[in-house]
Amino acid sequence: MALSSYPYWDLTSLTIPPRTRLVPLEPLGVGTAYIESLTSYTCRLAQVHSITVGKLFNHEIGPMINKLYLVNAHKRTNGNFCKNYFTNRGHMFNGIGKCAEDLVRALQALTLRQDLRFLTYLTWKEVLSEIGLMRRTRAWCPLCFGEWLCEGREIYEPLLWRLHAVAVCPLHRRELETGCPKCGRHLRLIESHSRAGHCQRCDAWLGKTGTEMIEKHHRAEDFDFRLWSALELGHLIAAGPTLSAEPGKEQIAKAIKMCTERLAAGNAHVFARLSRLPKNRAHFWIQRKTVPRLLSLLKICHKMCISLVDFLTLEDPLSHLGIAGVAIRLEAEKVTVHKRRKARAVMREALSENPAPSIQEIARRLGYKSICSLRKVSAELYLRIVERRRVTVARESAREERRVVPPHDRDEVRNALEAALSREPALTLHDVAKELGYSSNDGGLSKTFPRLCKSLVKRRTAYLARRHQEQERALRKVLRENPPPPLREVETRLGYKNGSSLRKRFPELSASILANHKAYRRRQADQLLARLQSVLMEDEPPSLASAARRFSQERNSVRKQFPDVCRKIKERHAEFTRSQAARTRAMCEEEIRQLTADLHAEGKHPTLILVKSRMTRPHYLNYVKFWAILCDEKRRLAIN
Ligand SMILES: [Zn+2]
Ligand SMILES: [Zn+2]
Repeated sequence: MALSSYPYWDLTSLTIPPRTRLVPLEPLGVGTAYIESLTSYTCRLAQVHSITVGKLFNHEIGPMINKLYLVNAHKRTNGNFCKNYFTNRGHMFNGIGKCAEDLVRALQALTLRQDLRFLTYLTWKEVLSEIGLMRRTRAWCPLCFGEWLCEGREIYEPLLWRLHAVAVCPLHRRELETGCPKCGRHLRLIESHSRAGHCQRCDAWLGKTGTEMIEKHHRAEDFDFRLWSALELGHLIAAGPTLSAEPGKEQIAKAIKMCTERLAAGNAHVFARLSRLPKNRAHFWIQRKTVPRLLSLLKICHKMCISLVDFLTLEDPLSHLGIAGVAIRLEAEKVTVHKRRKARAVMREALSENPAPSIQEIARRLGYKSICSLRKVSAELYLRIVERRRVTVARESAREERRVVPPHDRDEVRNALEAALSREPALTLHDVAKELGYSSNDGGLSKTFPRLCKSLVKRRTAYLARRHQEQERALRKVLRENPPPPLREVETRLGYKNGSSLRKRFPELSASILANHKAYRRRQADQLLARLQSVLMEDEPPSLASAARRFSQERNSVRKQFPDVCRKIKERHAEFTRSQAARTRAMCEEEIRQLTADLHAEGKHPTLILVKSRMTRPHYLNYVKFWAILCDEKRRLAIN
């Protein structure tokens, strides 16, 4: 029958949406503080497919992540990803690092969902520090589990419970549990047989109902702070999906700076002290050296009465502060006043100390960096301390001057002067006077023994002239040296402690030595560059490290000197390694297919062990990918 007889029959082909490899499960609790964690999602995914988490990792997720570190783990664990690798790193999968990113990417590719990022803390990766962030073992609230079971809701483990900083359930206001009620073990985050709400070791149900629970009345001292922290972190998690942009690294420095300026009159020490943190910390963060740990962030926000989300996202986190701000400002003032009072007491004490300490010494005792801060504390005390010190120092030096010069008779002095005439190197008159115990100048020696003194001076002048000539000769010799040494080395050779006096005495020669050395360095660099460029011509490009070793250089210093050439060397090496690896892979693939066909022709069943025993690189069959080729080939040849 002609189709034209059905005018309403739509002949356009249907657009079929892309198929997903795994069931695109809806994550639970999205947009709330109780959003599911990525490890819990993975467990539920395995459950939906009626397989263990281990199988899901080994056959689907592992090959999808396909990273070098996994290939290595795969080698070590003999093809069993889950057994060691994933279990050891379970805590990282909900965190802010590479592991979390990889798992999100793999699961998004397998389920075609786009919202799995919010099941981790990746949104906050720029503003959270990885140190001490995630728990390594499971923690849970049995009452939450119990309630969900009674209400017939699906059991899962929220992202909130994965943080170290969360030790309290904000709904039930009780401590989270960390040990299995039956076997008492602490449980890893994810293992081959993990199941939400159950112990993976003894399969015990981890939930309890309110009537079963005997509340512990003892509450830790900082319970309120911990409860507040859990609530704040809940808000943080809920806010993740609503953000238009992820907060950047500079946000924290900006927020802390603003708090310091507005609440502690710009005094970072006082600000840190208010938040009960080490005093140099705030200054450190403002300089953007590090991102604070989560606990420090919580302490700051708790003290400043700012919500954590506001602190991490708003341009001006203090805009809603209101009356609390006034109280904090007052407290900061109190801290400052207290500090100044203490400083004043120390200064007053110093006034009666003997011998009188210097103002620098007092600043050091109080931990002040400059003496200006002491002047600010009390100008009057400052001046009194300075004056007292001045008087003491003056008195001491006067006493020194008055110190009795040991009485010398004329013969003794003459003998000393005559002895000095034959000493090497020639002494100055001042040196001799000092040796005899005179405190200033020549102690009147030149008046008493004019002839002897004149010869001493003459001898000294001749010595200096001779030394000058010798040094000049030495410098000229240096100019002829090959390779030309650096000026600093020449200084040490001639016994100069710093370069400026040598340069002042022999300006032209020093300049030539410097120039020679510089030209030599330039020649060396040109030579090295030419050698590195020649590496680029080689057929088997070496790695940068081995090229540097070949020219007896450090890799990092070469990279700093010639960044462009080094980048090219690295790229060529990487490209070469990649192509080599691809060639080996292709060869192996071909070999597997060939061996399977050969064994089949011989009438033998091509088992994994048999094929492996005939392969040139048998360990390749440990990889899931190559194993899949073998399966594929068997299927093609219709071997079961
Ligand atoms: Zn609870
Ligand atoms: Zn157990």
